[in-house]
Amino acid sequence: MSNVLIYAATEEDAKALAVLAAPLADGTPSFLKASTGLPEAEAATIVATAGAEGATVIVAPASKKGNEAAARAAEMLAAGCITEALSAATKDGKITAKRAIYGGVAVGEFAFEKSPAVLTFALSALAGAEGAGAYEAVAAVAGAEASYRKELVKSEPLAKTVDLTKAKRIVSFGRGLAKKDDIGTVEALAQKLGADIGCSRPIAEELKWLPQEHQVGITGAIVKPDLYIALGISGAIQHFAGMKDSKVIVAVNSNKNAPIFQFADYGIVGDIYEVIPALEQALG
Ligand SMILES: Cc1cc2nc3c(=O)[nH]c(=O)nc-3n(C[C@H](O)[C@H](O)[C@H](O)COP(=O)(O)OP(=O)(O)OC[C@H]3O[C@@H](n4cnc5c(N)ncnc54)[C@H](O)[C@@H]3O)c2cc1C
Repeated sequence: MSNVLIYAATEEDAKALAVLAAPLADGTPSFLKASTGLPEAEAATIVATAGAEGATVIVAPASKKGNEAAARAAEMLAAGCITEALSAATKDGKITAKRAIYGGVAVGEFAFEKSPAVLTFALSALAGAEGAGAYEAVAAVAGAEASYRKELVKSEPLAKTVDLTKAKRIVSFGRGLAKKDDIGTVEALAQKLGADIGCSRPIAEELKWLPQEHQVGITGAIVKPDLYIALGISGAIQHFAGMKDSKVIVAVNSNKNAPIFQFADYGIVGDIYEVIPALEQALG
Protein backbone atom coordinates (compact mmCIF):
# COMPACT_ATOMS: atom_id res chain seq x y z
CA MET A 1 0.00 0.00 0.00
CA SER A 2 1.36 3.40 -0.92
CA ASN A 3 0.03 6.89 -1.46
CA VAL A 4 1.60 7.00 -4.96
CA LEU A 5 0.45 4.86 -7.87
CA ILE A 6 2.69 4.80 -10.94
CA TYR A 7 1.01 3.99 -14.24
CA ALA A 8 3.50 3.23 -17.03
CA ALA A 9 4.12 0.82 -19.88
CA THR A 10 7.72 -0.07 -19.04
CA GLU A 11 9.80 -0.74 -15.95
CA GLU A 12 12.30 1.86 -17.17
CA ASP A 13 9.58 4.54 -17.09
CA ALA A 14 8.37 3.29 -13.71
CA LYS A 15 11.87 3.69 -12.25
CA ALA A 16 12.15 7.24 -13.61
CA LEU A 17 8.65 8.13 -12.37
CA ALA A 18 9.53 6.75 -8.91
CA VAL A 19 12.48 9.20 -8.84
CA LEU A 20 10.31 12.14 -9.98
CA ALA A 21 7.49 11.29 -7.56
CA ALA A 22 9.84 10.69 -4.60
CA PRO A 23 9.08 14.12 -3.02
CA LEU A 24 5.37 13.15 -2.92
CA ALA A 25 5.77 9.53 -1.84
CA ASP A 26 4.99 8.12 1.53
CA GLY A 27 6.66 4.72 1.29
CA THR A 28 7.47 2.75 -1.85
CA PRO A 29 5.20 3.70 -4.78
CA SER A 30 2.98 1.03 -6.31
CA PHE A 31 3.44 0.30 -10.02
CA LEU A 32 0.50 -0.56 -12.26
CA LYS A 33 1.78 -1.78 -15.63
CA ALA A 34 -0.17 -0.28 -18.51
CA SER A 35 -1.98 -2.81 -20.67
CA THR A 36 -2.85 -2.48 -24.33
CA GLY A 37 -6.45 -1.45 -23.57
CA LEU A 38 -8.06 1.76 -24.77
CA PRO A 39 -7.33 4.80 -22.58
CA GLU A 40 -10.97 4.80 -21.40
CA ALA A 41 -10.61 1.27 -20.01
CA GLU A 42 -7.13 2.00 -18.67
CA ALA A 43 -8.46 5.03 -16.80
CA ALA A 44 -11.10 2.86 -15.11
CA THR A 45 -8.38 0.35 -14.13
CA ILE A 46 -6.17 3.15 -12.77
CA VAL A 47 -9.02 4.47 -10.63
CA ALA A 48 -9.95 1.02 -9.30
CA THR A 49 -6.31 0.10 -8.58
CA ALA A 50 -5.62 3.44 -6.91
CA GLY A 51 -8.69 2.83 -4.73
CA ALA A 52 -7.52 -0.66 -3.77
CA GLU A 53 -4.01 0.65 -2.96
CA GLY A 54 -5.27 3.71 -1.07
CA ALA A 55 -3.24 5.86 -3.47
CA THR A 56 -3.92 9.59 -3.44
CA VAL A 57 -1.32 10.54 -6.05
CA ILE A 58 -1.32 9.04 -9.55
CA VAL A 59 1.66 9.60 -11.85
CA ALA A 60 2.18 8.62 -15.48
CA PRO A 61 4.51 9.52 -18.36
CA ALA A 62 3.24 12.35 -20.59
CA SER A 63 3.04 10.01 -23.58
CA LYS A 64 -0.07 10.25 -25.75
CA LYS A 65 -1.69 7.34 -23.95
CA GLY A 66 -0.37 8.36 -20.50
CA ASN A 67 -1.82 11.85 -20.88
CA GLU A 68 -5.17 10.58 -22.06
CA ALA A 69 -5.54 7.82 -19.49
CA ALA A 70 -4.41 10.14 -16.67
CA ALA A 71 -6.76 12.94 -17.72
CA ARG A 72 -9.69 10.49 -17.91
CA ALA A 73 -8.78 9.03 -14.49
CA ALA A 74 -8.67 12.56 -13.04
CA GLU A 75 -12.09 13.29 -14.49
CA MET A 76 -13.51 10.07 -12.98
CA LEU A 77 -12.04 11.01 -9.59
CA ALA A 78 -13.05 14.70 -9.87
CA ALA A 79 -9.36 15.34 -9.20
CA GLY A 80 -6.97 18.00 -10.45
CA CYS A 81 -4.60 17.00 -13.24
CA ILE A 82 -1.26 18.56 -14.17
CA THR A 83 0.23 17.29 -17.42
CA GLU A 84 3.81 17.57 -18.74
CA ALA A 85 5.21 18.26 -15.24
CA LEU A 86 8.96 18.88 -15.07
CA SER A 87 9.21 18.30 -11.32
CA ALA A 88 6.96 17.93 -8.28
CA ALA A 89 7.25 18.81 -4.61
CA THR A 90 5.26 19.12 -1.40
CA LYS A 91 5.00 22.68 -0.09
CA ASP A 92 2.97 23.78 2.95
CA GLY A 93 1.14 20.47 2.85
CA LYS A 94 0.16 20.89 -0.80
CA ILE A 95 1.42 18.97 -3.81
CA THR A 96 2.98 21.32 -6.33
CA ALA A 97 4.37 20.78 -9.81
CA LYS A 98 6.35 22.86 -12.28
CA ARG A 99 5.57 22.79 -16.00
CA ALA A 100 6.41 24.86 -19.08
CA ILE A 101 3.88 27.60 -19.87
CA TYR A 102 3.32 30.14 -22.68
CA GLY A 103 4.63 27.72 -25.28
CA GLY A 104 7.82 27.05 -23.38
CA VAL A 105 9.11 30.57 -22.66
CA ALA A 106 8.46 30.34 -18.91
CA VAL A 107 7.97 27.77 -16.16
CA GLY A 108 4.87 27.98 -13.95
CA GLU A 109 4.37 26.33 -10.57
CA PHE A 110 0.92 24.94 -9.78
CA ALA A 111 -0.55 23.57 -6.53
CA PHE A 112 -3.27 20.96 -6.05
CA GLU A 113 -5.96 22.34 -3.77
CA LYS A 114 -7.30 18.92 -2.84
CA SER A 115 -6.62 15.20 -3.00
CA PRO A 116 -6.33 13.03 -5.05
CA ALA A 117 -3.76 14.49 -7.44
CA VAL A 118 -3.01 13.24 -10.95
CA LEU A 119 0.23 14.17 -12.74
CA THR A 120 1.92 13.24 -15.95
CA PHE A 121 5.65 13.95 -16.25
CA ALA A 122 7.22 15.33 -19.45
CA LEU A 123 9.21 12.70 -21.36
CA SER A 124 12.24 15.00 -21.12
CA ALA A 125 11.89 14.90 -17.29
CA LEU A 126 11.79 11.09 -17.40
CA ALA A 127 14.91 11.03 -19.58
CA GLY A 128 16.67 13.39 -17.15
CA ALA A 129 15.66 11.55 -13.95
CA GLU A 130 18.84 10.45 -12.22
CA GLY A 131 19.08 6.98 -10.74
CA ALA A 132 16.37 4.36 -10.52
CA GLY A 133 13.56 4.72 -8.02
CA ALA A 134 12.13 1.73 -6.19
CA TYR A 135 8.55 0.59 -6.73
CA GLU A 136 6.37 -2.36 -5.90
CA ALA A 137 4.46 -3.93 -8.79
CA VAL A 138 0.77 -4.37 -8.04
CA ALA A 139 -1.92 -6.34 -9.85
CA ALA A 140 -4.44 -4.39 -11.90
CA VAL A 141 -7.89 -4.16 -10.37
CA ALA A 142 -10.61 -4.29 -13.02
CA GLY A 143 -12.46 -1.02 -13.37
CA ALA A 144 -16.18 -0.55 -13.70
CA GLU A 145 -17.66 -1.58 -17.06
CA ALA A 146 -17.24 1.43 -19.33
CA SER A 147 -20.35 2.66 -21.10
CA TYR A 148 -18.61 3.94 -24.21
CA ARG A 149 -18.67 2.43 -27.67
CA LYS A 150 -16.00 2.71 -30.34
CA GLU A 151 -16.55 2.24 -34.03
CA LEU A 152 -13.70 1.79 -36.52
CA VAL A 153 -14.45 4.06 -39.46
CA LYS A 154 -11.07 4.08 -41.20
CA SER A 155 -7.72 2.39 -40.78
CA GLU A 156 -4.33 3.52 -42.07
CA PRO A 157 -0.83 2.18 -41.51
CA LEU A 158 0.77 3.88 -38.50
CA ALA A 159 3.34 6.50 -39.40
CA LYS A 160 6.76 5.46 -38.14
CA THR A 161 7.31 7.12 -34.79
CA VAL A 162 10.64 8.26 -33.46
CA ASP A 163 12.08 8.94 -30.01
CA LEU A 164 14.78 11.53 -30.59
CA THR A 165 15.64 11.74 -26.88
CA LYS A 166 17.39 8.36 -27.28
CA ALA A 167 18.98 8.97 -30.72
CA LYS A 168 22.77 8.77 -31.03
CA ARG A 169 22.85 10.65 -34.35
CA ILE A 170 20.37 13.20 -35.64
CA VAL A 171 20.19 14.93 -39.00
CA SER A 172 17.87 17.89 -38.55
CA PHE A 173 16.56 20.36 -41.08
CA GLY A 174 14.77 23.68 -41.03
CA ARG A 175 13.21 26.21 -43.33
CA GLY A 176 16.37 26.18 -45.45
CA LEU A 177 14.76 23.19 -47.16
CA ALA A 178 12.63 24.70 -49.90
CA LYS A 179 9.95 22.05 -50.37
CA LYS A 180 8.53 18.92 -48.81
CA ASP A 181 9.62 16.75 -51.73
CA ASP A 182 13.25 17.52 -50.85
CA ILE A 183 13.02 15.66 -47.51
CA GLY A 184 14.22 12.62 -49.47
CA THR A 185 17.70 14.17 -49.79
CA VAL A 186 17.88 14.66 -46.00
CA GLU A 187 16.64 11.10 -45.48
CA ALA A 188 19.34 9.73 -47.79
CA LEU A 189 22.07 11.47 -45.76
CA ALA A 190 20.51 10.33 -42.48
CA GLN A 191 20.36 6.76 -43.74
CA LYS A 192 24.06 6.80 -44.64
CA LEU A 193 24.86 7.98 -41.11
CA GLY A 194 22.39 5.67 -39.38
CA ALA A 195 20.76 8.81 -37.99
CA ASP A 196 17.22 9.78 -37.04
CA ILE A 197 15.57 12.83 -38.59
CA GLY A 198 14.84 15.97 -36.59
CA CYS A 199 13.47 19.35 -37.59
CA SER A 200 12.82 22.88 -36.41
CA ARG A 201 9.39 23.93 -35.19
CA PRO A 202 8.12 25.54 -38.42
CA ILE A 203 8.65 22.24 -40.26
CA ALA A 204 6.46 20.26 -37.82
CA GLU A 205 4.03 22.83 -36.55
CA GLU A 206 3.41 25.26 -39.41
CA LEU A 207 4.26 23.32 -42.57
CA LYS A 208 3.36 19.92 -41.06
CA TRP A 209 5.95 18.19 -43.22
CA LEU A 210 6.89 15.87 -40.33
CA PRO A 211 5.02 14.64 -37.24
CA GLN A 212 5.60 16.59 -34.02
CA GLU A 213 7.86 13.85 -32.53
CA HIS A 214 10.58 15.04 -34.94
CA GLN A 215 10.62 18.61 -33.60
CA VAL A 216 13.72 19.52 -31.63
CA GLY A 217 13.63 22.39 -29.17
CA ILE A 218 12.14 23.74 -26.03
CA THR A 219 8.64 22.78 -27.14
CA GLY A 220 9.82 19.60 -28.85
CA ALA A 221 12.34 16.92 -27.99
CA ILE A 222 15.33 17.74 -25.77
CA VAL A 223 18.08 15.72 -27.41
CA LYS A 224 21.69 14.85 -26.59
CA PRO A 225 23.08 12.75 -29.45
CA ASP A 226 26.75 12.17 -30.19
CA LEU A 227 26.25 13.95 -33.52
CA TYR A 228 23.71 16.65 -34.46
CA ILE A 229 23.71 17.96 -38.01
CA ALA A 230 21.61 21.11 -38.52
CA LEU A 231 20.73 21.76 -42.16
CA GLY A 232 19.23 25.16 -42.99
CA ILE A 233 18.34 25.88 -39.37
CA SER A 234 18.95 29.44 -38.13
CA GLY A 235 19.66 28.42 -34.53
CA ALA A 236 16.97 30.33 -32.64
CA ILE A 237 17.26 30.14 -28.86
CA GLN A 238 14.21 27.86 -28.64
CA HIS A 239 15.88 25.38 -31.00
CA PHE A 240 19.26 25.71 -29.29
CA ALA A 241 17.65 24.85 -25.91
CA GLY A 242 16.68 21.46 -27.31
CA MET A 243 20.01 20.39 -28.82
CA LYS A 244 22.71 22.27 -26.92
CA ASP A 245 23.83 19.08 -25.10
CA SER A 246 24.73 17.32 -28.36
CA LYS A 247 28.36 16.17 -28.25
CA VAL A 248 29.26 17.37 -31.75
CA ILE A 249 27.18 19.96 -33.62
CA VAL A 250 27.63 20.42 -37.36
CA ALA A 251 25.78 23.33 -39.00
CA VAL A 252 25.20 23.99 -42.68
CA ASN A 253 23.75 27.40 -43.47
CA SER A 254 24.02 29.77 -46.43
CA ASN A 255 24.10 32.79 -44.11
CA LYS A 256 27.49 33.14 -42.43
CA ASN A 257 25.88 35.26 -39.71
CA ALA A 258 23.27 32.63 -38.76
CA PRO A 259 23.20 32.22 -34.94
CA ILE A 260 23.72 28.45 -35.26
CA PHE A 261 27.39 29.05 -36.09
CA GLN A 262 27.91 30.54 -32.62
CA PHE A 263 27.48 27.14 -31.00
CA ALA A 264 28.39 24.72 -33.80
CA ASP A 265 31.59 22.67 -33.45
CA TYR A 266 31.87 22.53 -37.24
CA GLY A 267 30.24 25.04 -39.57
CA ILE A 268 29.82 24.95 -43.33
CA VAL A 269 28.71 28.18 -44.98
CA GLY A 270 26.92 26.96 -48.06
CA ASP A 271 23.75 25.88 -49.78
CA ILE A 272 22.36 22.67 -48.31
CA TYR A 273 21.41 21.58 -51.83
CA GLU A 274 25.12 21.49 -52.68
CA VAL A 275 26.47 20.42 -49.28
CA ILE A 276 24.15 17.44 -48.68
CA PRO A 277 25.18 15.60 -51.90
CA ALA A 278 28.83 16.45 -51.20
CA LEU A 279 28.56 15.01 -47.67
CA GLU A 280 26.84 11.92 -49.02
CA GLN A 281 29.55 11.42 -51.58
CA ALA A 282 32.26 11.89 -48.96
CA LEU A 283 30.57 9.22 -46.81
CA GLY A 284 30.79 6.80 -49.74
C1 LIG B 1 7.33 29.99 -27.53
C2 LIG B 1 8.15 29.51 -28.67
C3 LIG B 1 8.60 28.21 -28.67
C4 LIG B 1 9.37 27.74 -29.74
N1 LIG B 1 9.82 26.45 -29.73
C5 LIG B 1 10.62 26.02 -30.74
C6 LIG B 1 11.17 24.68 -30.73
O1 LIG B 1 10.92 23.87 -29.84
N2 LIG B 1 11.97 24.33 -31.77
C7 LIG B 1 12.29 25.17 -32.80
O2 LIG B 1 13.02 24.76 -33.71
N3 LIG B 1 11.78 26.42 -32.82
C8 LIG B 1 10.95 26.85 -31.83
N4 LIG B 1 10.44 28.11 -31.90
C9 LIG B 1 10.62 28.88 -33.14
C10 LIG B 1 11.98 29.56 -33.22
O3 LIG B 1 11.93 30.83 -32.58
C11 LIG B 1 12.37 29.78 -34.69
O4 LIG B 1 11.37 30.54 -35.33
C12 LIG B 1 12.57 28.49 -35.46
O5 LIG B 1 13.46 27.64 -34.78
C13 LIG B 1 13.15 28.83 -36.85
O6 LIG B 1 13.18 27.66 -37.62
P1 LIG B 1 14.22 27.54 -38.82
O7 LIG B 1 15.60 27.74 -38.31
O8 LIG B 1 13.91 26.29 -39.54
O9 LIG B 1 13.75 28.72 -39.79
P2 LIG B 1 14.40 30.13 -40.11
O10 LIG B 1 14.61 30.92 -38.88
O11 LIG B 1 13.56 30.71 -41.18
O12 LIG B 1 15.84 29.78 -40.66
C14 LIG B 1 16.10 29.15 -41.88
C15 LIG B 1 17.59 29.14 -42.05
O13 LIG B 1 17.90 28.44 -43.24
C16 LIG B 1 18.95 29.13 -43.91
N5 LIG B 1 18.84 28.78 -45.32
C17 LIG B 1 17.89 29.14 -46.21
N6 LIG B 1 18.09 28.53 -47.39
C18 LIG B 1 19.21 27.77 -47.25
C19 LIG B 1 19.91 26.92 -48.11
N7 LIG B 1 19.50 26.65 -49.36
N8 LIG B 1 21.04 26.32 -47.64
C20 LIG B 1 21.47 26.54 -46.38
N9 LIG B 1 20.81 27.33 -45.50
C21 LIG B 1 19.69 27.93 -45.93
C22 LIG B 1 18.73 30.59 -43.61
O14 LIG B 1 19.94 31.31 -43.71
C23 LIG B 1 18.21 30.53 -42.19
O15 LIG B 1 19.26 30.65 -41.24
C24 LIG B 1 9.68 28.59 -30.83
C25 LIG B 1 9.23 29.92 -30.81
C26 LIG B 1 8.48 30.37 -29.75
C27 LIG B 1 8.01 31.79 -29.73
